[in-house]
This record gives sequence, structure tokens and C-alpha cells, in this order.
Amino acid sequence: MGKVINALNCKCPNCKEGKIFRDGGNIILLHIPEMNHRCPVCSYKFERETGFFFGAMFVSYALAAAEMITSLVVFWYFIDFSPLSVFAIIVVIAFLLSTINFKLSRSFWIYLFYKNKV
Ligand SMILES: [Zn+2]
Repeated sequence: MGKVINALNCKCPNCKEGKIFRDGGNIILLHIPEMNHRCPVCSYKFERETGFFFGAMFVSYALAAAEMITSLVVFWYFIDFSPLSVFAIIVVIAFLLSTINFKLSRSFWIYLFYKNKV
């Protein structure tokens, strides 16, 4: 459970203290979060090889799909908005959560392939 919390907080999988991202980004200003290449505390290299984060795209897709399906169920079935309103709400939610998805998908991807060096 601790690993999940550390991944959600975007902490280094090696020392659990260093931050994976330098800044959180700002979707309103269209600013993508910037990553540290290495952990500022223990120098663990986050990008294991060139193109390592390509696979994080699939995690991001899964997160976005889960958020969209949840929004659909909540706003269509429970609140009973019109289909066009639901579509607009889903587009806005997907846009606003895109930086969070970016950070979480990379963090999950790093944790997925982290092997403890004992
Ligand atoms: Zn570290």
C-alpha cells in the first residue's frame, strides 16, 4: 500500500523522498509538468532507457478512459444531463485532468519497472 501512495505522490521509488517532477505544471497555462532526470536525493535515474516513457502512454489512456466512463455514469445516469451536456462536461474534465494523468502515468510506469537493488 505504501508503494501506491508513493506513486500517487510522485515520489522516487528508490528513496521515497525525492520528487519525480520539478513542478506540477498548469493546464490553464498549457504548461506540461517538468520531470527530473535523476532523483534530487539519491540520484536514481527515472528514464531507464530512451523511449522508456512510451509505455506510460497506455497507463495514461487507461486513466483517461476510467475518468471519462466515471463522468459518463455520474452525469448521465445519476444526474440525468442531456447527452450534449455530458459530452461537454467529459471534454472539460479530460482537459483539466490531463496534467494529473501525465504525472500519474509516468509515476506508475516508473514504479511498475522499479527493481529494488538489495
Ligand atoms: Zn531517490
